[in-house]
Amino acid sequence: MLLTPGPTPIHPKAMRALMRGMLGHMDPEVFALNREIQQDLRVMYGTEPEAFTALLAGTGSLGMEAGFANLVEAGDEVLVCANGSFGRRMAEMAARYGARVRLVTAPLGEAINPADVAAHLDGVNMVAVVHGETSTGVLNPVPEIAELVRGSGALLTVDAVTTAGMEPFHMQDWGVDYAYTGAQKCLSAPPGLAPIAVSERAFARFAARRSPTPLWYCDLEGLRDYWVDHTYHHTVPVNLHFAFHAALRAALDEGLERRQRRVRAMGQVIERTLAPLGFSHYVRRPEDRLPTVLALRLPEGFDDAGVRKALREREISVTGGLGPTAGVIWRLGLMGESARPAPYRALMVALQDLLG
Ligand code: PLP
Repeated sequence: MLLTPGPTPIHPKAMRALMRGMLGHMDPEVFALNREIQQDLRVMYGTEPEAFTALLAGTGSLGMEAGFANLVEAGDEVLVCANGSFGRRMAEMAARYGARVRLVTAPLGEAINPADVAAHLDGVNMVAVVHGETSTGVLNPVPEIAELVRGSGALLTVDAVTTAGMEPFHMQDWGVDYAYTGAQKCLSAPPGLAPIAVSERAFARFAARRSPTPLWYCDLEGLRDYWVDHTYHHTVPVNLHFAFHAALRAALDEGLERRQRRVRAMGQVIERTLAPLGFSHYVRRPEDRLPTVLALRLPEGFDDAGVRKALREREISVTGGLGPTAGVIWRLGLMGESARPAPYRALMVALQDLLG
């Protein structure tokens, strides 16, 4: 039972779709399926009607990398909101593509303060922020940050890895230019695909580049050749597309708002059940808490490694903290198919048994 902050259990419909017989990546049936995926992604991200959407053949980190590779040029000023591991990963990638990086930080377990972004916006070409910081369970205030960025001329890149498909995400209304996630998170598809969405404004910025994008594999023009003009760029992993299509359809059929309610309801039950055992919220302010990754401070004297090992022996997989929060917190995943009562009931029973 995967109660981790990713990957999540594969949706049964995605599992069945994975078993479909192989088709070629240039098969008209695959292009028709891809078109449906692109349209469903526009709905999931809340984009402009014609925004470019696609799947990259890699994990969420490739979605992150493709944004910087296509939309940043050497010497650009990039403001990165870095209040956890994934924000820091963004800063590192932006720097590798030649950006001059300005960091806005916040203490661990706290959200980025939009006023800090406003104070450093002058002359910035791109602002990058992680919506849900998985390493600490913090939800950054993307709508407020987007409002500040809107008038500045900077592009806004948002890491939606733990949010898209499960949390409100309104790319067009908020003014987000580039967003990405990983198939294995809120959609419960197998890992290996990074769904991206690119605004028309970002595409125009890309088209005006002084030099070609240094990452050939994810060059937006090459991706558009395949996804829009149906000419060969590289061999896409067709079976993963089948599974992704099924998982995304299942999410939209369930309804995005219903999924948001499901996560919240599950989070409240887990929290109420674990509180008597001594677990408490790690993120102090309720509005900063990421519903899809519940970060819980461990009880005093708790044997983190020992209890997780004992749970693993019962086939229950739970994730601890990362870096400075190792041994301090657990991060319980409530994305996609992990936000279901049955696996959490099993966790509660096992914990009550282990902790006496
Ligand atoms: N961004 C966030 C917020 C994440 O949680 C993760 C993975 O956990 C990533 C990026 C990287 O995704 P992947 O491990 O799929 O490359």
